[in-house]
Amino acid sequence: MPMSQSYKTRLFPVLDKITSHYGTPFHIYDEMGIRQTGENLKKAFAGIDCFREYYAVKALPNPKILSLMKDMGFGFDCSSIAELRLSRRVGGRGEEIMFTSNNTSELDFIEAAKDGGSILNLDDLNLLAKVPVMPELMSFRYNPGAKRSGNEIIGNPTEAKYGISDDQIIDAYRQAKFLGVQRFGIHTMLASNELNHEYMVQTSRMLLELIADVSAELDITFEFINIGGGLGIPYEPGIAELDIEAMGRQITELFKSFRGQHGYEPALYMESGRFMTGPHGVLVTTAINRKDIYRTYVGVDASMSCLMRPGMYGAYHHIDVLGQDGAAETEIVDVVGSLCENNDKFAVQRRLPKIEDGDILVIQDTGAHGSAMGFNYNGSLRPKELLLTGEGKVELIRRAEQVEDYFATLDFEPDLLKP
Ligand SMILES: *Cc1c(COP(=O)(O)O)cnc(C)c1O
Repeated sequence: MPMSQSYKTRLFPVLDKITSHYGTPFHIYDEMGIRQTGENLKKAFAGIDCFREYYAVKALPNPKILSLMKDMGFGFDCSSIAELRLSRRVGGRGEEIMFTSNNTSELDFIEAAKDGGSILNLDDLNLLAKVPVMPELMSFRYNPGAKRSGNEIIGNPTEAKYGISDDQIIDAYRQAKFLGVQRFGIHTMLASNELNHEYMVQTSRMLLELIADVSAELDITFEFINIGGGLGIPYEPGIAELDIEAMGRQITELFKSFRGQHGYEPALYMESGRFMTGPHGVLVTTAINRKDIYRTYVGVDASMSCLMRPGMYGAYHHIDVLGQDGAAETEIVDVVGSLCENNDKFAVQRRLPKIEDGDILVIQDTGAHGSAMGFNYNGSLRPKELLLTGEGKVELIRRAEQVEDYFATLDFEPDLLKP
């Protein structure tokens, strides 16, 4: 199920007005849908003493969206200086921020320690010696290697650059304890866009077993386990959604049985990006050209520079042509942008209603890893972002890039070195 019926019902009847006011292309996000998903997530894990979602900022790094997350009581999962600053800009402080960075630099650490710090989630044992200010609360990112299989987007854990290996993990906590860290958590992220809830249940089980082992070995307790992001959404019609209730129920059982054995339960943290916002965004674009050669091409006024998932992973994004639901006349086309790259296609050999210049296409599930993965190749400029608010108003939440933005990095003081 791509975009929800509810979003469609609220958006499509007013889309003409929105496109004539704002022009195309743009991404538009659905506040109501995002809040609903947030509430569903909280409800699914309500049986756990302390549950918190740290929204993965990289999925949709827009302050307005981050404010919605804050409003729902969520924290922020950050991996870069810009993401830390965005989170703080909307009021995220201290333990509301999880800093999960890979190949971390000194500047990253300094930023993470600012403004009341953050939870440091260290990706490697050697980084311990490089942390400038040892925080009170720390976690390590665990990579189970051959003990688990990954999935397509993240790959096999033994080939993934993330985390601390199984044979190093106890030593990591031993060293952190020695260096004065008093409070501990653990993190892992093994899958991306995973639709099988059993996988997430297994990940929780794995971490609970691991913290029991580490606790027994080192006489420490764990405040949280963080099972990462990776909760999937069905991009293609007809695919079942992730069963979040079953996932919540089974993980809650694991927590209660942990409590039975150990006399306490840690908090459960997760860092969903895609699941929280993915289905609640669409890219709206206008057909501007048709071309019939060996295939038929429909050219639109957006390009993969504002949605690279199809070009990068061959990912499917469902497309509706406004006003053509159930059209009698259909044809098989490639929907393309204007970049000088043949993978600049939103759809390949897709059966769609017959499209003419001026038709509005709604490319779905762009609310996560859509605009955020944008780039400027070919001098392409990222489009604006809009929010359909809970009151049914449409708010500009990021302006479109302009040619002046593209030229901004050419504006600098001369600097010539003769080495
Ligand atoms: C990308 C990422 C996430 C979010 O992933 P989704 O697939 O969007 O849920 C969460 N945590 C970390 C560490 C990540 O790198």
